[in-house]
Amino acid sequence: MRQSWQSLKWWVPAGVAIALGGAVWLARSSLADQRALFETDARIVHRLLSQQVVQHDAILATLALLQPDGAGPSGTPPEQRLPALYPQILAVQRRDANQTWPDTALAEAEAASRTARRAALAAPDLHSGRYRMVLAATPTSYALTIDLRGMVPWSEWPMQRESSPVRVSLVHAGSEHVIQPGAPAKAGGSGWRFEFHKVVAAESQPFDVVAVRDVGWSQLPWGRMLAWMLSVAFLLAALRHLQRQRSERRRAEELLRLGQVGRLNTLGELAAGMAHELNQPLTAVLANTQAAQRLLNDEPPAIDTARGAMTQAAEQARRAAEVVGRLRRAVERPDTAGQQQAVDLVEAVRRALYLLEPECKRRGVEPVHEGAQNLMVQADPVALDQIVHNLILNALQALEQVEATKRRLVLTLGVHGGQAELAVADSGPGIAPDVLPRLFEPFFSTRENGLGLGLSLCESLAQGMGGSITAANPPAGGAVFRLRLPLKGVHP
Ligand code: ADP
Repeated sequence: MRQSWQSLKWWVPAGVAIALGGAVWLARSSLADQRALFETDARIVHRLLSQQVVQHDAILATLALLQPDGAGPSGTPPEQRLPALYPQILAVQRRDANQTWPDTALAEAEAASRTARRAALAAPDLHSGRYRMVLAATPTSYALTIDLRGMVPWSEWPMQRESSPVRVSLVHAGSEHVIQPGAPAKAGGSGWRFEFHKVVAAESQPFDVVAVRDVGWSQLPWGRMLAWMLSVAFLLAALRHLQRQRSERRRAEELLRLGQVGRLNTLGELAAGMAHELNQPLTAVLANTQAAQRLLNDEPPAIDTARGAMTQAAEQARRAAEVVGRLRRAVERPDTAGQQQAVDLVEAVRRALYLLEPECKRRGVEPVHEGAQNLMVQADPVALDQIVHNLILNALQALEQVEATKRRLVLTLGVHGGQAELAVADSGPGIAPDVLPRLFEPFFSTRENGLGLGLSLCESLAQGMGGSITAANPPAGGAVFRLRLPLKGVHP
């Protein structure tokens, strides 16, 4: 299985989902608000129109009740003064006993009214903008001609008559009177439609109040939606920036823990310590050998005393060697015995690659991981991190010597000869044949600023954990370093 060691860009899809989700929510809540407003307005319109038509019933009932009592003081019959009081009433007609209506529609309506015992419509056609209604009574029946335009109480109307997008009409038996034109969508236009249908509350005039509101895509709250999406993008960018800063800090802390920075400082201290500790035995060696030289030059030479001085010089030289050995052990083999535990080698590789991510990027190298996804070894985690880090860093440094397009770094994990193995293979120049036998010597380096301690330290650490490191030039070119460590739970 191959896997590129790249962090998942989870925040891009997450950001898109949050931004889109929020925008959809804004659009939906805006639509819900517009629908609620539409329904409230439509109910008010229905109530107002119902109040108007109920008035007509009341007027007719009053006329029928009073019956004609001749002309009033002004000489006009009282019903003829009604249009002056009610602007929607265009005319009042009456049929006295033994008279006939001027047209059959009124006669038919009167018959219907007599049967229904309420006012009835006379061949209504709402499209014409007016309608007539008759209430049969004895001896005189009355008819009203009502103007639909004059019937609308504009002063109480809940919408702006000209500019409102809501279309309001009265519908009866297929004919329609448009009260307010609104802004209906063009045929085939997409969007949302709110509708309201309710018959006015007067049995004699069963007109359907129909309100329609079309909401197009352009009427969605695009400004707010865009502002929301920009805020999410900004917030995520800020979060991403913070996260990046945090991971940079973590990486630096880890590097410090690994001792890459600390080790260099310690080296300075060690050099000073070494000079201090070696100064004394070396001075003694010098003094003793000079004394022996003088004694041997004497005539006759004081051989016994010179022998004593040389013995002392040899002892001091051994002490100096011990100091050097002790300091070397301190540099190369930190006291890690007893800190061994079960560690996942794959995790160690992952950690090292994470720390070296900037180094890889800088050189345009994309490390490839092959083989086991989990490999438990018995090791000191700090020492293991140190080894893996060194091997990968060496490979990256070797890759600098070849063209950017030819740089490959493959990390293979597996089990060989009963041990866990990590092979770090690079497509660098490989190891020169004369360099190969000296590779793990302390202070051996072919690099200008190299300390030559990395590989010798790695070897000491690996051996300290019961493992080994080998180097080779594979036939395909480049170099491969194999780190082998005991598998967890397997005792040699
Ligand atoms: P330094 O890196 O300080 O030189 P090291 O002990 O890590 O010390 O490496 C010793 C030498 O081994 C390097 O100078 C280099 O010549 C050689 N070497 C290490 N790794 C590689 C590699 N991947 N390819 C080629 N040569 C390498």
